[in-house]
Amino acid sequence: MSIVQQQFRATHVVIDTRAYHHNLAVVRSLVPEARVMAIIKSDGYGHGMELAADALREADEFGVTCQDDAERLRQHGVSKPLTLLSGRYSTAQLNQFGDRRWRPVVYDESQLAAFDSLEGGTAIDIWIKIDTGMGRLGFYPDKLAEVYQRLRSNPRVGSISLMTHLANADYSEHPSNRYQIERFKECLSQHAFADASILNSAGTVGFHDSAFDIVRTGLVLYGIAPQAGEHATALPLKPVMQFRSQLLSVRAMSAGSPIGYGSTYTLEADTRVGIIAAGYGDGYPRHAPTGTPVYINGHTVPLIGRVSMDLITVDLGTVDAKVGDDVILWGTENPIELVAEKAGTIAYELTCGITPRVERLTI
Ligand SMILES: *Cc1c(COP(=O)(O)O)cnc(C)c1O
Repeated sequence: MSIVQQQFRATHVVIDTRAYHHNLAVVRSLVPEARVMAIIKSDGYGHGMELAADALREADEFGVTCQDDAERLRQHGVSKPLTLLSGRYSTAQLNQFGDRRWRPVVYDESQLAAFDSLEGGTAIDIWIKIDTGMGRLGFYPDKLAEVYQRLRSNPRVGSISLMTHLANADYSEHPSNRYQIERFKECLSQHAFADASILNSAGTVGFHDSAFDIVRTGLVLYGIAPQAGEHATALPLKPVMQFRSQLLSVRAMSAGSPIGYGSTYTLEADTRVGIIAAGYGDGYPRHAPTGTPVYINGHTVPLIGRVSMDLITVDLGTVDAKVGDDVILWGTENPIELVAEKAGTIAYELTCGITPRVERLTI
């Protein structure tokens, strides 16, 4: 990252690499019998994929989106098995998967055709994905026997594992969870699968009695609570990302003053207003409403008015704060789960949305 950003723009994310170790230990304690596939797609949920792979080197394997990620990780020296959760590939590309120890997820007829066209070479370990109720990628369970036979009779196919994905794991009382787990068990009993995997982060917290062989955890490893309405401290997880900025201006303003674009907010009383060097151009959510928490000098103060590209505004009230003081937009002192909830989104979208101009520092 450029020195210019470091010197002149205060907005940055701090990645706490030790927090990854802590969070991985939490996952292991929840599912001590299972292996952990650390999901580091979308640039490690915006935290930096290579950094995450380094910090999570004690994970058993990694899960990524497709070949681009997998290639980056191999170039970075990562030698663990890699699962490609949703890649599309030609037969020629697929031909190299065995040597690279890339483990594709097979969920569509078009992939079966690519496998059929393979000639001799290293065996490719694969996952078959079934749709037990997510309504996204996967074969219906009643197709499994046919898909399995077709792949099993292919000499290029090595081990075959089975996965499915829960639609409502973040609401553990939702009846679809148990239904999906039961459907998955029925499918598992039909053939001898190498590995079975159903749980994401929320599932690992809510259904650790159904961990099977491998859990696929992303969010919890970044120190974010996966269950609706919970915060990281509940598990307890440690947030990996701290999104920080500084105060650019502190002004005494009078009751009745409008604040920001659209004059959507008007001060109710005389107060001190802080203007912060962060906005949607950095990945702060534009839809965060008045009242979204911002942490300054030991106090939580409310965002007021609209989020701009480079700036947000807070009501400092009586908080002792001056130009240059640090601000925590989200992080340990200001839960990202709360900011996301206020902004009508999920923490995943916030961390993935950090823009390239924001410098990433590591501790
Ligand atoms: C992203 C993803 C995961 C990880 O989900 P988290 O909620 O971040 O733990 C697991 N499985 C699949 C198929 C995914 O796409």
